[in-house]
Order: sequence, then C-alpha cells, then structure tokens
Amino acid sequence: MSAQSEVRTLYTRQEIASTINRLAYEIRRDYQNRHPLLVGILKGSFVFMADLVRMLDFPLEVEFIRLSSYHRSSQTTGNVRIVHDLSATVKDRDVLVIEDIVDTGLTTGFLMEYLQKRKPASLKLCAMTDKPARRQMPIKIDYLGFTVPNKFIVGYGLDYDEKFRNLADICVLEVGG
Ligand code: 5GP
Repeated sequence: MSAQSEVRTLYTRQEIASTINRLAYEIRRDYQNRHPLLVGILKGSFVFMADLVRMLDFPLEVEFIRLSSYHRSSQTTGNVRIVHDLSATVKDRDVLVIEDIVDTGLTTGFLMEYLQKRKPASLKLCAMTDKPARRQMPIKIDYLGFTVPNKFIVGYGLDYDEKFRNLADICVLEVGG
C-alpha cells in the first residue's frame, strides 16, 4: 500500500456500540437458555467477539478457529485452509459463528460446511460486516451488524497487512496518489 494511503471513518465507535446492543438483544432472545458455542474466526473477529460476549448475560462458551484465505494481500484467493482448529466438540451444540466480514463468501461458506459436517444441533452466522458487492457464494447471515461498500475495510479487528486492527472505528482504507 502506498505511503499516501489513509483511513476514513465509515462507522464510529458509538455506532458500533449501538449496533452491538441490537445484535446482543437479538442473540439473547434466541439463545439465552441454550448454552451456545460461539465460534470466532481469527484474527479479524477478536474485537467484535470481545465486545459482543460482554453484552450477553447468559451461559455460553467461546472458541476460535483460524482460517487462511487472504495471504497478506487485499485479493482473496478462494483457497481456504484451517490453520488452527477448534478444541471443543461441535456435535449437538447450538453453534453461532462470529465473523468479521463476509466478502466473496468463500471463507464463510467453507467454514459453515465444515461445521455442518460435525452435526451441530443448530448452526447460525453473526457477521459484523457484509460486503455484498463481491459475493461469489450465497451466504445466509442470521445476525448482521453493518453493510459496507465495495472498499477495503480496516479497523475494529480488521487489518491491512496486520496493521489497523486496533482502530476503534470501522474505516475504509483509501489509496491516494
Ligand atoms: P471472503 O472469503 O468472504 O472473500 O473473505 C473473508 C475474509 O477475507 C475475511 O474474514 C477477512 O479476513 C478478509 N477480507 C475480506 N474483505 C476484507 C476487507 O475489506 N478488509 C479486510 N481487512 N479483510 C477483508
């Protein structure tokens, strides 16, 4: 990325906080007596997961899975690998996947299929952001935070080359020059 690249705020931390409140309300309504297993996709979902679970005041478990598909560039490859697998058993659990961004849908589609094969009692998807313009595979998002434009998004856990994850707002990375 050129030295002239800059970040522009798309959703502020206040907008994120009220969206997390809404999502937590929806998730609490559907899961509060079900002891769900929340599966975060590393690394991008770690901030979202941390904020979301603190708004969920009922018993649940948290797991993380690490997939690789982007290979440190802004182009997706469609080549998904599991880099770090779950340690919990998925069979007969109510599983809620926590995703940072659904872009082409290839990563999420791969993971949902992978988890479905392990026979959970139920399997749903919560995505912080959705970029529908680039979708290659249909994905059902059960709980959605924000729809984003066809731009490269950083901040609130999302990176470009491992940078910008610590920005508190959801931003667009603009390339100048
Ligand atoms: P997909 O397989 O849906 O194309 O992409 C899924 C993964 O690609 C996401 O989990 C994320 O890691 C990465 N990704 C896709 N779009 C963006 C984006 O706009 N910004 C960042 N930082 N990562 C993205």
